[in-house]
Amino acid sequence: MKYIAYCRKSTDEKDKQVLSIEAQIAELKEFARRENLELVDFITEAKTAKSPGREQFKLILERIEKGEAQGIVSWHPDRLARNSIDGGKIIYLLDTGKLLDLKFPSFWFENTPQGKFMLSIAFGQSKYYVDNLSENVKRGNRQKLRRGELPGKAPYGYINNRQTRSIDIDPETSRTIRRAFEFFAEGGHSFTEVSLFMAKFALTRANGRPLHLNQIRRTFTNKFYVGIIKYAGEYYVGTHKTFISKELFARVAREISRIEKPRQKGHNFALTGIARCGECQAAITAEQHIKKYQNGTSQTFIYYRCTKKPNPCTQKYVPEENFAEQLKKIVWDCALHKDYEEIFEKWAEVELEKERTNSEEILNLAEEKLAQSDEKLNKLLDAYLEGVIDSDIYKTKKNELFEEKLKIQEEISKIKRMGSSWLEPMREIMQSSIACFKTARAKNNYDELKFISKTVGSNYSLLDRRLSVEYKNSFKILAAFGGAAKNPPSKSTISLFVSRQGLEP
Ligand SMILES: [Zn+2]
Repeated sequence: MKYIAYCRKSTDEKDKQVLSIEAQIAELKEFARRENLELVDFITEAKTAKSPGREQFKLILERIEKGEAQGIVSWHPDRLARNSIDGGKIIYLLDTGKLLDLKFPSFWFENTPQGKFMLSIAFGQSKYYVDNLSENVKRGNRQKLRRGELPGKAPYGYINNRQTRSIDIDPETSRTIRRAFEFFAEGGHSFTEVSLFMAKFALTRANGRPLHLNQIRRTFTNKFYVGIIKYAGEYYVGTHKTFISKELFARVAREISRIEKPRQKGHNFALTGIARCGECQAAITAEQHIKKYQNGTSQTFIYYRCTKKPNPCTQKYVPEENFAEQLKKIVWDCALHKDYEEIFEKWAEVELEKERTNSEEILNLAEEKLAQSDEKLNKLLDAYLEGVIDSDIYKTKKNELFEEKLKIQEEISKIKRMGSSWLEPMREIMQSSIACFKTARAKNNYDELKFISKTVGSNYSLLDRRLSVEYKNSFKILAAFGGAAKNPPSKSTISLFVSRQGLEP
C-alpha cells in the first residue's frame, strides 16, 4: 500500500504544543521506517485547518481519489482536520474504499466502524478547540476564559480561592447544593420549597433570608455545575472540578421545563418547537382530533402540520406516532452503545496521564532555560560592575536577556494552565450519544426525545412527510457511518481502545 505523508503547522499555532514542521517530518520518517510504510510523497503545509480549503490538503484528497496512494500518514488526526467538512471528507474516502488506511504516531487508527468512530471523536475534538478560540470578549477575561476559568464571583457551592485565583469546590455548600439538585429532581417541589430546603442547611442570602426564587432558578440552570462556563453569550469549557453529574443536571432541567410549561387544555403536544416546514419554513404545530363512535366511545388522534403562516402551503398532516418514529430514527443513527462509557473513561484516564507526563517534560526544559537565562543576567551584571563592559552595552544586552526571560516565563505559565480541556467535550459527546441509545428505544418519552434531538441536531425540516436534520459536528460523523457504534463493544473493539494503552478490560 502507498502512503502520502502530510505535515501541517499553522501560523496561528506557534505557541501551542504542536511539533514544528521539521520535527513532524523527522518523526514521520522515523515512524514510516519503523512501520515499513511505503511513502510516495511528503507534503507540508503552513496553513490553518480551521476553515476548509487548504490547497495541499485538497491535492492529497484528489490524488487519493485518483488512486495514486491509498493511505495517509500524519502526526495526529488534528493535523488532517480541524473542521467537520475536512473530517467528513476523510471519513467519506474511507467509506468509499478509496482511502484504506491512516497512520499516526500519536493515535491508533484501524479502518473499522469503531476505528472511524474514534477518528471522528478526534476530529470533533479538534473542531471544538478551534470553536473555543473564536470568542469576542474583553481581553483580560478572554485570557481567563481560555484557561477555562470563570471571571468573577464563584457560584453557590464554590469559593474564589484568593491565592491561586481559581474557583474551588466549597466542601460545605457544595453538599447543600447537590442535595438541593437531588431534592428538586425528585419532582413535585417548587422553587420556594427548594429555597427553604437550602436555608435549613444554612445556605441563605447574606442577610440570612432564604434565597430568592430567581437565584434558585439561576443556580439550577447554571451550566457551570457541569463544567461549562457561559460568558458574554458564549460557552467555554471550564477546568474547574464539578460535583453535579450531567445526568442530575439534565433531570433538574426537565423538571424546570415541566413546572414552567403553561398548562394546556386537553393534550400536551410534546414534539412541537422542533421542526419547520420544508416548503414554506413556517413552524410545525400540532392539533388533535377526537373521533366519536356510535357506541359512545371516542379516540384521539394527534397530527403535526405546517402552520401555513403567513403564506399558503401544500404540505399535509403527519400523525404523531409517525413524526416521533422519524425523530427516533434520527436520534438512533448517532447512538452509541452504553457500554462504551466505561471503556472511554479508562482510555481517558491513560491519555490524561500521558499528557501530564508530556507537559512535565516540556516544563522541565523550560525551567532549565529560565535558570540559564538568570545565570547569564548575573554574569552580565558582574561584568558591568567590574568595568569590563560599558553601560550602553550592558543596557542593550540586559534588555535582550530580559525579554528572553519573559518569553520563557510566559511559556511556562502557558504549559501550566493548558490542562486537558479536550476531555469534557469528548465526554459530553459520549454521554449524549449514549442518551440517544436509551431514548430511541424507550416508549412514551417524548419530552426526552425532544431534548436529545435538539442536542444532536438543528434545522429539522418536514417536507412531504419526511423529517430531515442537520446533525451537529460529532453527531454528523457518528451518523455518517451508519451508526456502527450502536453495537455493544466486543472483545476486538475494546482492544482498539486498550491495545496501545496497556489496559485490560
Ligand atoms: Zn409549509
